[in-house]
Amino acid sequence: MDKKMREIADKVRNGVRLSKEDGLYLYSSNDLLTIGMLAREKKKEASNDYIFFNVNRHINLTNICISRCKFCAFGVDENSPKPYTMTSDEAFAYASKAVDQGITEFHIVSALNPRLTLDYYVEIIKRLKTTYPHIIIQALTAVEIVYLAQISNLSIKEVLLILKEAGLEAIPGGGAEILDDRIRKELCPRKANSEEWLEVHRTAHELGIKTNCTMLFGHIESYEDRINHLITLRRLQDEAPGFKAFIPLPFLPENTGLSNLKKTSAVDELKTIAISRLMLDNIEHIKAFWVMLGIPIAQIALQFGADDLDGTIVEERIMHAAGAKTDKGIAKETIINLIKEAGYVPAERDTLYNILKIY
Ligand code: SF4
Repeated sequence: MDKKMREIADKVRNGVRLSKEDGLYLYSSNDLLTIGMLAREKKKEASNDYIFFNVNRHINLTNICISRCKFCAFGVDENSPKPYTMTSDEAFAYASKAVDQGITEFHIVSALNPRLTLDYYVEIIKRLKTTYPHIIIQALTAVEIVYLAQISNLSIKEVLLILKEAGLEAIPGGGAEILDDRIRKELCPRKANSEEWLEVHRTAHELGIKTNCTMLFGHIESYEDRINHLITLRRLQDEAPGFKAFIPLPFLPENTGLSNLKKTSAVDELKTIAISRLMLDNIEHIKAFWVMLGIPIAQIALQFGADDLDGTIVEERIMHAAGAKTDKGIAKETIINLIKEAGYVPAERDTLYNILKIY
């Protein structure tokens, strides 16, 4: 280790928070294995030898979207060749198909469809919760919630209260991209800005709704933008705790408005996972999201600070529109084996990280 890396290692081992400068240094360093080792030590403090996963069903209700973010291959115009919107009955039938597979979470994320009102989402959430009270509903990104507030003429808090009353228990971390309006203006000017995204999560935490957070990396942002993003999330978690997990998402360029960009490298992905673990000292779980990382890197990421492999998903559509090469879902047994092969103990969890079963 060089002198600066030793200083950082001392801070990590003594529980001293890393600074922006430390984070930037880690990105500039080629000492991937030391960064991974430090992240692994922090992971052990947070979750010992467990690696978490859940059995969940992703549901994407519509792909019609007014935002048309440059990095997105999922959202389409109403007049495009393949728009779709599930009716409430279709959504219910689609969700129900996975119930006998032992799922513990409905993960509902869609797009900004101007024809769908808040009532549409409330009806679906209510029906699912009433029929399957044991399954946790994690639904609607902060971006969707801001949009619903705008088209319903309600505040973010009012929308969250209505959704909570219907049965929503957690909010996924999507839509954060990079929390910097200079970058958002370039990539996604029509959706929630940084402050609005943060306000949804702050308000949700204050209302007792747990959430996750993400970072989309590997597009037009710099390392400094990434570190600023992590520090912004860390600050919100200090002010209004409620983030359960952080999910770094590598940008997949295929079929997007940025298809000229190269896909992120394995080194960048592993370093980002490890640096996230080291910078986010107040967020307990770091996810290696196998859909976007690919199974091999996701498995290696477990040695770089990640303590969660996400879930079975069953049928993923958003990342696969952008060329994700992974299967659309994964069997529970496969996840368990991946974790065991990596030398860890598989722990099936619910959305809120209550352990349901150790394998
Ligand atoms: S990222 Fe979300 S908001 Fe942006 S175009 Fe895709 S579906 Fe729409």
